[in-house]
Amino acid sequence: MSQGAADERLRLFFALLPPPQLAAALAGRAAGLARDYGGRALPAANLHLTLLFLGDVGAARLPVLNLAASSAAAAWRPFTLQLDRLGYWPRQQLLWAGLQQAAPELSDFSAYLRSTVEKAGFSIGDAGRAFFPHLTLLRKPGRTPPDGLSLTLPAWPVSGFALLASTRTAAGASYRPLAVWLVP
Ligand code: ATP
Ligand code: MG
Repeated sequence: MSQGAADERLRLFFALLPPPQLAAALAGRAAGLARDYGGRALPAANLHLTLLFLGDVGAARLPVLNLAASSAAAAWRPFTLQLDRLGYWPRQQLLWAGLQQAAPELSDFSAYLRSTVEKAGFSIGDAGRAFFPHLTLLRKPGRTPPDGLSLTLPAWPVSGFALLASTRTAAGASYRPLAVWLVP
């Protein structure tokens, strides 16, 4: 795990990263949606499903965070996700891929990770926000997409999660993996 200068602050979050083939399929769909509705499609490399958002954390605390995440990873139960829903949030102007059916293993793991990192002394970026699993595909479409757009993709056997640092520029955010946990 890279640490950088001791006083460096990083904008951190934990996320699932889709495997390359699924990411390519999602990015292809995002590009098609951008052609149809305008807006900025996310490239495959930026696609992620946020598990837990931490916000700004001092780089010196990364080893403690790493330990907490490793201990949470030990409680992982295998699961598969079926991304089968496209949704649109008008206020944020985000078009996203998500799940029609709740995925209890996913929300349970997000909650467990959260309680584990909180016990390790970290506060959560927006403690009031409910966990809503989604992958953003498109930002700021010129035309509002209709409800009920279909999404058909292969199943996603989730095999790990990552700690990512976000850097935001005028051209959009980019994310740098700091650590990855592979799970059974
Ligand atoms: P930008 O903010 O530049 O539009 P972004 O939202 O992708 O891009 P970040 O704000 O750094 O980049 O967020 C990283 C990830 O964490 C995203 O998936 C975002 O939805 C999520 N996230 C950001 N803020 C919060 C928050 N307060 N609560 C929950 N999740 C958040
Ligand atoms: Mg944001």
